[in-house]
Amino acid sequence: MNTIDIIPLIKQPRKVTILSHRNPDGDALGSSLAMARMLTYIGHQVKVILPSEYPYYFDWLPDIESVVIADSRVSYANTLIDECDLIICLDFNSLDRVDNVSQTIATANKPIILIDHHQDPMPFASYMMSDPLASSTAELVYRFFEELGLLHRVDAAIATCLLTGIITDTGSFKFNVNPTVFSIVSQLITKGIDYQQIQYNIFNNMSAKQLQLLGFCLDLRMEVVPEWHAAIIGLNKADFQRFKISRGDTEGIVNYPLMVGDIWVAVLVTEQQNLIKFSFRSKGDIAVNELAKRHFNGGGHKNAAGGSLQVSFNDAIAQLKQHLPSVIQYSSI
Ligand code: 5GP
Ligand code: MN
Repeated sequence: MNTIDIIPLIKQPRKVTILSHRNPDGDALGSSLAMARMLTYIGHQVKVILPSEYPYYFDWLPDIESVVIADSRVSYANTLIDECDLIICLDFNSLDRVDNVSQTIATANKPIILIDHHQDPMPFASYMMSDPLASSTAELVYRFFEELGLLHRVDAAIATCLLTGIITDTGSFKFNVNPTVFSIVSQLITKGIDYQQIQYNIFNNMSAKQLQLLGFCLDLRMEVVPEWHAAIIGLNKADFQRFKISRGDTEGIVNYPLMVGDIWVAVLVTEQQNLIKFSFRSKGDIAVNELAKRHFNGGGHKNAAGGSLQVSFNDAIAQLKQHLPSVIQYSSI
């Protein structure tokens, strides 16, 4: 992205629509809300659109109540995109991640800025800040503010949102970290935020039901396949009903099998309304995004990816077991 070209777009007050991906995570939410606040501070009229609802445990994020959920207000969301002057896409790079508004984005005759850290961006943006080595989109949003000379406007609310994106996408600084992340964080914590409270809000904010569901998954639904260094957790529709699972309740479960030294790949398979969703996590050089891309209509990062299939739950597990051994070939281990 050439900052010189962006400056006129940002310096003049405009109607801006910020868009992030379906099933938004902490980075999608944190980077969008931080960008929205910053642009509001400098005079823009801003709306944030998400294709689907955010998990309840992020309801403490500043301004989150103002986001437009396209699943429940699809024509309003499309009108906002149609009527704005500038679109900013954050934390996704392919239009299938914004399914219910993708057509409007694809045909929008206006500038689109894309800021993202996934590999292989689709070419739908006019300006792109794409860095797969970045920890998070929140890190890139900070760098965007820096390039535009806006860092002095970062306040506690913006810092809280950016820290949330960085903390969630690095598993609280366990992976994807680089020297820039720590230097950005060292700046953000000077902005009057309550760092410990943010950590508590993110990680100690589960419901009892969610914790019980985690116990159930690890005790009764986890299948370890030692020869593949893999663990699979499958949740079918009956499990969803039994635990009254709602959006976000299964978040994080897929990370737990990796706590076992000899498990290098973990997969959570969930039976959704019309499809089967796969969440992949891995350690080291094992590239689960390749597996997701080749066999599960998905993608993502090397160590955290996802995908989906429109097959029965049993077929999904069978296909997973068919392809899982090959994941080792996408690694240099
Ligand atoms: P999660 O397992 O938390 O749902 O997703 C982990 C990561 O995988 C996400 O941050 C996203 O990058 C990627 N991902 C998840 N689902 C999909 C999908 O259906 N398609 C693509 N392209 N990427 C996905
Ligand atoms: Mn991200």
